[in-house]
Amino acid sequence: MKYVIIGNGIAGINAIEAIRELDQAGEIVLVGDETTLPYSRPMISYVLEGSQPLAKLPIRSEQFYDQMMVTTILGRRVSAIDVDRRQIVLNGARLDFDRLLIASGADPRPLKAANTSLDNIFYMRTQAHVRRQVQALERGPRRAVVLGGGLVGFKAAYALMKRGLQVTMLITSGYPLSMQVDEAAGKMILDRLLTHGLDVRVGVSVQGFEGNGAVRAAITDTGQSIPCDMVIVGKGVLPARDFVPRKRIEVDLGVVVDDHLQSSAPGIYAAGDVAESIDIARRQRWVNAIWPEAAVQGRTAGCNMAGRPVAYPGSLSRNVMRIYDLDLMTLGYANPQKDEAVQVVRSGGPRHGFYRSLVFRDRLLVGAVLVNRIEQGGVLRALIENRVPIGLCPAELLAPGFNFARLLPG
Ligand SMILES: Cc1cc2nc3c(=O)[nH]c(=O)nc-3n(C[C@H](O)[C@H](O)[C@H](O)COP(=O)(O)OP(=O)(O)OC[C@H]3O[C@@H](n4cnc5c(N)ncnc54)[C@H](O)[C@@H]3O)c2cc1C
Repeated sequence: MKYVIIGNGIAGINAIEAIRELDQAGEIVLVGDETTLPYSRPMISYVLEGSQPLAKLPIRSEQFYDQMMVTTILGRRVSAIDVDRRQIVLNGARLDFDRLLIASGADPRPLKAANTSLDNIFYMRTQAHVRRQVQALERGPRRAVVLGGGLVGFKAAYALMKRGLQVTMLITSGYPLSMQVDEAAGKMILDRLLTHGLDVRVGVSVQGFEGNGAVRAAITDTGQSIPCDMVIVGKGVLPARDFVPRKRIEVDLGVVVDDHLQSSAPGIYAAGDVAESIDIARRQRWVNAIWPEAAVQGRTAGCNMAGRPVAYPGSLSRNVMRIYDLDLMTLGYANPQKDEAVQVVRSGGPRHGFYRSLVFRDRLLVGAVLVNRIEQGGVLRALIENRVPIGLCPAELLAPGFNFARLLPG
């Protein structure tokens, strides 16, 4: 059996380990664009802020590939999949496979703006990006603009503030983390950021940049010129699947997979940020581009590829983060937009120092936003994942000290 894995991120690596546990004789070939050892992508922001060196990023040792008996082809990008011949294409060369895993992750959403090729404008996805950012910091920039109010934008803004830069965050939506939290929580977060000296401007996008060689200003759609000598773009990601033939493999936003992570082409699997699987909370296909799901999907796909059927229960969006003194946890379908089929109950708010919002559909909990008082988040997650019917009035779950044992049958 010849297994080919595209992508040396956490999904690809976990798949390799699962395959090797089940099949010691099969041939495994890993094709990866990045030439580094597998590393913790979420940790690149710690390198940017200066609290961790690049050397701390790897998540597997230098012996990993030998131990797994993996042939590596690194620094090469797969350009096509020939489904009929069961081959992948790399710079014109072809490589056979019996089982293929697409674990190519995601690429930063390209910024549509003028003069993005000026120096010191960076995306934030890879170790190479952060290495170049750190080099730029050595030249002593003073003012940075961060584009995007999502997780990556946040991490970048924090990191640059820690490095002593004056940071302006430009967010297209009306409040930060709008993909994860509802407006009430978003406004609490915004307030906290402004209080701590981050210049956050909402409802603003960038039209272009000015500079002579290197960036000197970001120009907004309202015509403002914001002086800066460094820019980090964190406006979300798109699944890296440009090499996947849409006529032969079903692709929506990501590569569509079934409950065993197999694509519409038999023997070809997908896992991680590139895969679109069922979202437990939404009950529809979704790309939840988060590390723990990529890890589990990689392992699950590896088992299935090696002949041990393992069902994947579906993915669940979740995030825990601290924003100054605000602890934030989001779960599932946390920010429904004009969805009349859901019921939302809330408690707290800015004056109370905490906020909780729970989203229900058909007597099931499907989402939650917790600002401070996040301690019951684990139980809420279990209610969502296990689809536990809520036989009580939903608002009762928000009562302080609510006894979740009341939801157990009998
Ligand atoms: C700054 C930052 C912070 C983050 N923080 C968090 C966090 O706090 N919590 C969380 O859950 N998630 C976080 N994430 C997201 C998390 O890192 C991803 O969900 C996870 O890395 C996805 O793993 P993956 O294996 O699917 O893809 P990736 O890690 O993207 O790996 C895919 C690999 O495939 C390679 N590749 C792509 N196309 C090709 C091709 N055509 N040929 C060959 N190789 C290819 C890529 O170069 C890459 O090396 C963060 C991400 C970033 C960038």
